[in-house]
Amino acid sequence: MKVLIAGGGIGGLTAALALLKRGIEVEVHEQAQALREVGAGVQISPNGARVLYELGVGEAVAAISCENEAKEIRLWNTGEAWSPFDVVARSAEIYGYPYFTVYRPDLLGALEAAVRAADPGCIRLGRKAEAFEQSGDRVVLRFTDGGTAEGDILVGADGIHSIVRRQLWGEPAARFTGMLAWRGVIPMERLPRHLHRMVGTNWVGPGRHVVHYPLRRGELMNFVGVVEGVDWQVESWTAQGDRGELHRDYEGWHADVHSMIAAIETPFRWAFLARDPLPVWGQGRVTLLGDACHPTLPFMAQGAVQAIEDGFILARALSEIPSAEPALRRYEDARRDRTARMVRGSNENATRFHNPELAHAEGAAAYVAREFAEEKVRARYDWLFTYDVNTVPV
Ligand SMILES: Cc1cc2nc3c(=O)[nH]c(=O)nc-3n(C[C@H](O)[C@H](O)[C@H](O)COP(=O)(O)OP(=O)(O)OC[C@H]3O[C@@H](n4cnc5c(N)ncnc54)[C@H](O)[C@@H]3O)c2cc1C
Repeated sequence: MKVLIAGGGIGGLTAALALLKRGIEVEVHEQAQALREVGAGVQISPNGARVLYELGVGEAVAAISCENEAKEIRLWNTGEAWSPFDVVARSAEIYGYPYFTVYRPDLLGALEAAVRAADPGCIRLGRKAEAFEQSGDRVVLRFTDGGTAEGDILVGADGIHSIVRRQLWGEPAARFTGMLAWRGVIPMERLPRHLHRMVGTNWVGPGRHVVHYPLRRGELMNFVGVVEGVDWQVESWTAQGDRGELHRDYEGWHADVHSMIAAIETPFRWAFLARDPLPVWGQGRVTLLGDACHPTLPFMAQGAVQAIEDGFILARALSEIPSAEPALRRYEDARRDRTARMVRGSNENATRFHNPELAHAEGAAAYVAREFAEEKVRARYDWLFTYDVNTVPV
């Protein structure tokens, strides 16, 4: 069996590695001339870390990421800090696997090295897919340069603007949330000493929030600032913004937030569009994976993690079920409800973070006590973090 994967992002490369580990031939066709990820951080919760360890890249990722020592909630104007119940620092103890915060290019690099070690010819670069044809038991993928690739199965792992999904189902409806994320990665030495900490921090305030956490063993700090009430609708990893505008978006916020903004070389912007879960993913010998089939708002920090889980379960289905099309439908059935719950949960979380009571200390203290009580946090995350890709039925 030969599997074609369109897209060499976190999802596509994890799927390739999981398939190669089970002895299945794979070609990854990536549009970019070099495998690269946007310079941003990504949180890999223990359900994703479990998959990385299963695939033999856990140690490599651990060596280049961070396990945060603690979490802090801080108030937007005074900087008052609370230490809530934290699943991140206690992840290994509670869930058996660490919770990584990792620089996306580092994670992609670890996956790429493992894929190339398993099959040096697997990754084909500069191959922008534009369409596919299915006939009988073959799938042909066509590229914009006129080239083609042929295999038994096609997996669209080509991200939020997937052309494989568009050919199967058209463009799903998207609702603009009026929010965008500012993103930046900061060399730690550019920050004041008191911010050099291995602590994940959520700044809460009215109509906006900031999340920052260390990456790469503390060499870098990842900054994400979510702002509501905007009218700019581009979903792109490469859309740049202006640092002055970012400062203005956080006018009145604590000096620590502005120290971080001042240290960002290039701020990027990503607009938040919400979509409903896709009811059907694949057809015939074609399926989807990752953002191609469950694009999500990032309010549960699960988009990449769910793409990682998809890759493992796809490989299990294709190696455990003898016939290709039934195997793909079983993979989709195994994954649809879980990822739909994640997408809906993320849509609902969008408003939870920007509660008006976060404007002042009493409201924020009550919010932290309520939303970050251990049983609340466990109720939000246990169902996600306890998922075992080896034992779930496929
Ligand atoms: C601000 C923000 C913060 C986030 N934080 C987190 C987090 O902390 N944790 C988490 O788990 N998730 C997070 N996410 C979500 C996560 O980034 C995505 O879910 C994840 O990148 C999806 O991976 P993917 O491989 O499916 O798609 P992508 O990462 O988009 O990769 C798709 C790949 O396909 C390639 N491609 C596209 N079109 C074609 C084509 N026609 N032909 C060939 N190749 C093609 C692209 O070049 C790319 O390499 C966040 C998202 C945002 C916007």
